[in-house]
Amino acid sequence: MQTKAFGSNGPQVSAIGQGTWYLDRGDRKAAVAALRRGLDAGMTHIDTAEMYGDAELVIADAIAGRRDDVFLVSKVLPSNASRRGTITACERSLKRLKTDRLDCYLLHWRGTYPLAETVAAFDELIAAGKIRSWGVSNFDTEDLDELLDIAGEGKIACNQVLYHLRERAIEHAVIPWCAQHGVAVVAYSPFGHNDFPAASSKGGAVLQSIAQAHQATPRQVALSFLARAPSVLTIPKASSAEHATENAAAGDLRLSDREIAALDEAFPRGPKPRSLPML
Ligand code: NAP
Repeated sequence: MQTKAFGSNGPQVSAIGQGTWYLDRGDRKAAVAALRRGLDAGMTHIDTAEMYGDAELVIADAIAGRRDDVFLVSKVLPSNASRRGTITACERSLKRLKTDRLDCYLLHWRGTYPLAETVAAFDELIAAGKIRSWGVSNFDTEDLDELLDIAGEGKIACNQVLYHLRERAIEHAVIPWCAQHGVAVVAYSPFGHNDFPAASSKGGAVLQSIAQAHQATPRQVALSFLARAPSVLTIPKASSAEHATENAAAGDLRLSDREIAALDEAFPRGPKPRSLPML
């Protein structure tokens, strides 16, 4: 499994991690088994949020006895992101996850509390040993500029943003901004949430032919393409051990420049949208 630095001076983290949105909705035992299989296969970066129902409880079962192997990320809702609310929300997440610290804690998206308040809470949580680092999600470059002014260089570990083959908006400005400031980009919904290109489509055929050349699958090719830049990691969600195994193998797949160019043509980046797309 390829690893990447999680922010400037941050630890090395698996380039392919595990998302958990809706993981609590199906068979809980299968979900725990999927996460464990993912960990065994090197997908040690696990992403969750207080917003994701009981996902934190599912993760608690999956990481029991192996907490030190995991890079655990959770998120505070913007409606809780006041100075005090952030700390209370983090403590609730720690309790549900049955752990004493998060490796990274994110503001889920920008809300109405001043960013300085949330950052002050993050700093307090770091000082208390409850989080190791902090970051944001769904931040466009203007928000990142403002945050950088408040926090200073080297403090923002990551920006988690929407990125899949048919939604490449972050390539215009967010990825370059993050690369320049040592901020890891975590690509969410890498399979388009539930909208992966059909094998019968033109793009699906390109994915298929590249996959065949590597004895891989179209989804593995997609993950490898999305994580091709040095600062980008991705967090597909899988609720079965089979899917987790397939996704993890993408962490060892390297595409050639020609293959990347073919995917770039099959799934064009398109013009820069006025605002950052999010789910
Ligand atoms: P996704 O990872 O793009 O797609 C998940 C879908 O792909 C599920 O239906 C899953 O099915 C299927 N799948 C996964 N691996 C597969 C495989 N190998 N073969 C066939 N199907 C496969 O969607 P997502 O859950 O929206 O995004 C991933 C994670 O990003 C989330 O879980 C969450 O942690 C994070 N996220 C963050 C934000 C944010 O605002 N920060 C927003 C959205 C998502 P099964 O479940 O049946 O395996």
